[in-house]
Amino acid sequence: MPETHALLMNSAGYIALEDEYGAKNYHPLDVVLTRGQGIWVWDVEGKRYLDCLSAYSAVNQGHCHPRIVQAMIEQAQRLSIVSRAFRNDQLGGFYKEICELTKSHMVLPMNSGAEAVESVIKAVRKWGYTVKGIPHGMAEIIVCQNNFHGRTITIISFSTEKQYRDGYEPFTPGFKVIPFGDADALESAITPNTVAFLVEPIQGEGGVIVPPDGYLRKVREICDKYNIVLVTDEIQTGLGRTGRLFAEEHEGIEADVTLIGKALSGGLYPISAVLSNKEVLGVFHPGDHGSTYGGNPLACAVARAALKVLIEEKMIENAATVGPYFMEQLRGIKSQYVKEVRGKGLLIGVELHKEAGGARHFCAKLKDKGILCKETHEHVIRFAPPLVIRKEDIDWALEQISDVLAH
Ligand SMILES: *Cc1c(COP(=O)(O)O)cnc(C)c1O
Repeated sequence: MPETHALLMNSAGYIALEDEYGAKNYHPLDVVLTRGQGIWVWDVEGKRYLDCLSAYSAVNQGHCHPRIVQAMIEQAQRLSIVSRAFRNDQLGGFYKEICELTKSHMVLPMNSGAEAVESVIKAVRKWGYTVKGIPHGMAEIIVCQNNFHGRTITIISFSTEKQYRDGYEPFTPGFKVIPFGDADALESAITPNTVAFLVEPIQGEGGVIVPPDGYLRKVREICDKYNIVLVTDEIQTGLGRTGRLFAEEHEGIEADVTLIGKALSGGLYPISAVLSNKEVLGVFHPGDHGSTYGGNPLACAVARAALKVLIEEKMIENAATVGPYFMEQLRGIKSQYVKEVRGKGLLIGVELHKEAGGARHFCAKLKDKGILCKETHEHVIRFAPPLVIRKEDIDWALEQISDVLAH
């Protein structure tokens, strides 16, 4: 179709196109977005919305951040990809900066979050056989009920969400599922063949579930006691979302391996990373693992700029200040529908009573009022705006939210 036709279309036209040709694996709200800046996005009719999803925390730095966009343009004009068959002049700087920032010893760059998870599964299994001395083929990884780590076959093999699994059998073996937030359950599940415990510090997709205080500290002790690799999946909770660089810092612990993705590029490019001590990522030798796009100079330049603005523009501190304010004000809204408001920093879940009829129609009403958010787990509305949001923007959002929740 010629470009001019596309420009003449309204929302209904774009929606009809998507519905005609696209796989139906998503059920989006019917808003067709065309432009974004900071916390705001605009639809094709010109209506402005406050983005309270931030692409599942991929745009913590705000939409189209000018410094990240500039870094991307400059690098795209110079060199985009050479593959890891050769070296490039962005990779080393990216490694050094991210390791210094996160106090890691080694980094493995990948593309999507799911790939980072897949990569760590390979690494800890290999660590189990070559370092811990587990019999070949016997490695077990412990994970939590209600987890979300991505959508590949291996990852959904240990999901407890029926819809994520149905029809995709056979599954990958080697995983054991325990309740989230229960450190005793972890200790009981450990066997001599356990290599790792994979956990989200706060379950984001699971409905913004915050574990009890002290949970991660106990988990850290147990993993040390049994020589088990503690892997935190901070793909959603990391990079400032909860008011700290990593959510695990709230408990004062350091995982052996931390996974990041999403906001690592500020929403401009798919890039993820496995951050680790030398022992775990040290198991990989040339040819053991790889990715064509992983660590390409364009991705590295974008990630370096995205990390720089996150720190220099004090976005993490802002999340720590305005997040609790947002949550407190949400708690103050008088509504017959709200069961609980919970979260940390700017990762906030509002759980509704079952009788409210599901979070989705509240999200549709919020959309009409100029606020974009998405239900998670049927009864929870997640509020996770870009970390650059100011108190006055939150006050405006609260007016709209209380209108919707009070009626
Ligand atoms: C989004 C997410 C992933 C998967 O990332 P993709 O880039 O969608 O593959 C993994 N873990 C957590 C906690 C996530 O929120």
